[in-house]
Amino acid sequence: MNFVFPPSPTVAVPVRGQDAAFPVHRIYCVGRNYEEHAKEMGFTGREPPFFFMKPADAVVVVPAGGEAVIDYPSLTKNLHHEIELVVAIGRGGRAIRAADALSHVFGYAVGLDMTRRDLQNDMKKQGRPWCIGKAFEQSAPIGPITPAAQAGDVAQAEIFVQVNGQDRQRSSVAKLIWNIAETIEHLSAAWTLQPGDLIYTGTPEGVAAVVAGDVLSGGVTGLEPIRVRVR
Ligand code: MN
Repeated sequence: MNFVFPPSPTVAVPVRGQDAAFPVHRIYCVGRNYEEHAKEMGFTGREPPFFFMKPADAVVVVPAGGEAVIDYPSLTKNLHHEIELVVAIGRGGRAIRAADALSHVFGYAVGLDMTRRDLQNDMKKQGRPWCIGKAFEQSAPIGPITPAAQAGDVAQAEIFVQVNGQDRQRSSVAKLIWNIAETIEHLSAAWTLQPGDLIYTGTPEGVAAVVAGDVLSGGVTGLEPIRVRVR
């Protein structure tokens, strides 16, 4: 087929130990999925999981052992880091039961849900969509995907991010309110999951601002760590 202009290139994330990359379809994100983070956002208790999305081209790939650079985005004065475990879906489906959910997982990666917190808060107050706070360019840095069989016990892994070498967030994936399988069950009740979907599973407490010049170093035990510089 001819196009009136060249189609966008496929967004893809490298896979650890393989030459083939993981082509990204959609990016789903879970809100307030760690209790201590829900509290710091002014909420308590176990609410049903809720979701928002980022465009696939918000991905910024952090190469293995390397660094990615993101530009400080427009309009905000309060750009926050949210370190997250990212689930990469390899087999699609809808109405997936939690008991079957992990068979749909291709692998796992470390990601950052970068957030224009001031804009998100303005939208929350007005009951408006979060897109301007969450779904902007370069808002989804991610490291290489580790296939599930090589990722170890991700459900119990430590998750952390440092800024300029200082701890900002440090917790355990075990503290997820809705675990990986339950998240897939809820998500696939609302949307038909496709191979290539990424799920940012939520962030623990300690979210805070970064400024131009800061270097973020994040990890989840057993996965490829990430390093992101803000320009
Ligand atoms: Mn998040």
